[in-house]
Amino acid sequence: MDDLISRTRAAVWHPCTQMKALEATPPLAIARGEGPWLVDTGGRRYLDAISSWWVNLFGHCNPRINAAIVDQLGKIEHVMLAGATHEPVVALSERLARLTGLGHAFYGSDGASATEIALKMSAHFWRNAGQAEKNGYVSLRNGYHGETVGALSVTDIPLFKATYAPLLRNTVQVPTPDARLAEAGETAEGFALRCADALEAHLVEHAAETAAFIVEPLVQGATGMAMYHPIYLKRARELCTKYRVHLIVDEIAVGFGRTGTMFAFEQAAIRPDFICLSKGITGGYLPLSAVLTTDEVYAAFYGDATARGFLHSHSYTGNPLACRAALAVLDIFEADQVIAANRVKAQEFTGLLADVAMHPRVRHFRQRGMIWAFDVAQAQPGFSARLHQAALGQGVFIRPIGNTVYVMPPYVTSADDMRILAATLLACLKNSNI
Ligand SMILES: *Cc1c(COP(=O)(O)O)cnc(C)c1O
Repeated sequence: MDDLISRTRAAVWHPCTQMKALEATPPLAIARGEGPWLVDTGGRRYLDAISSWWVNLFGHCNPRINAAIVDQLGKIEHVMLAGATHEPVVALSERLARLTGLGHAFYGSDGASATEIALKMSAHFWRNAGQAEKNGYVSLRNGYHGETVGALSVTDIPLFKATYAPLLRNTVQVPTPDARLAEAGETAEGFALRCADALEAHLVEHAAETAAFIVEPLVQGATGMAMYHPIYLKRARELCTKYRVHLIVDEIAVGFGRTGTMFAFEQAAIRPDFICLSKGITGGYLPLSAVLTTDEVYAAFYGDATARGFLHSHSYTGNPLACRAALAVLDIFEADQVIAANRVKAQEFTGLLADVAMHPRVRHFRQRGMIWAFDVAQAQPGFSARLHQAALGQGVFIRPIGNTVYVMPPYVTSADDMRILAATLLACLKNSNI
């Protein structure tokens, strides 16, 4: 294992990591996975309580997803999607259209590429409609939409963004409906409506130069699982329609059941103009993202002029192995009635976290679907790293964001696993050195 650690430090540049920090805290050397558990090269087991950065849904080495990929391997591993097509990409596109109510699935490889695709498609739509000046973007404060240059322009996480500010397009951020920011006595709903008024105040002035409003529906993940009332999305839909601005819902983190419905936007009963999907789409197996849109948007690109088409591509667009993994994931959702089963499970897990929720250091304990989060009062600098290390010592892999601790386990996590997690969190909270 030490050998793997020294080799990774020499050869691999790890994501979102100050590499020098690996001297003090080496990464886990993972040899294999089993359901929600990771097993390191020394045989130690760790509960993957954050689903490997929110991608895993049905556990590691899931036999059903494994079988689908193996079957596809014997047929065709990859073929370019310009000038060719294949059954997995067609079947996946059909099923995603049925599930979301939008269609014309356009594929990328990562979440950030889906954001780029939606942003480009939206501005290109307006250009094709004779309104090329509608090319600006609005997003929420503290929002996250990925870290490539275009996606980072609509992201609002200073740690990721400030360094690269000179490279980025100017965009506008409007107040976040994050319910924690409501004033004393104000309901989450009332606060969300007040924030929607701020969105309207912006659109009233700037709709003519705005292509789209992009939003993480219901939960802003990367800022620390900020949750807000669905009325905000409902109002944002009305405003985007009224002011002729596209509504892009970034379901990259929350799609595929995370918030308790298949897609978060369903809870506001709205129809977005674009939906971005990734992360859970393949159950955490293979990189794949998709953007779905309306017939109206699609039609604006359809014609004889090549440049009117959406001339965007990635080499692995619509990769058959990734599409088969995604189809296997959708099969599991159907066969196991996952959304309904998770509703019961979420309630049970919330009960198991009751002592954590009531701990005196805990603020703003919150839950939506299969996401739990709380803020820790009086957290000293380095809290996140200390809690991460302490939890690892107890066999739980968890990475707080600042002073926010969150749990986003694979859906195959059992009540016994959850008891281990709850006990670990409680022990960490009771440890005044963390
Ligand atoms: C993770 C994430 C992205 C970016 O996805 P990558 O695959 O990491 O590029 C975009 N939007 C949201 C809401 C995310 O959580």
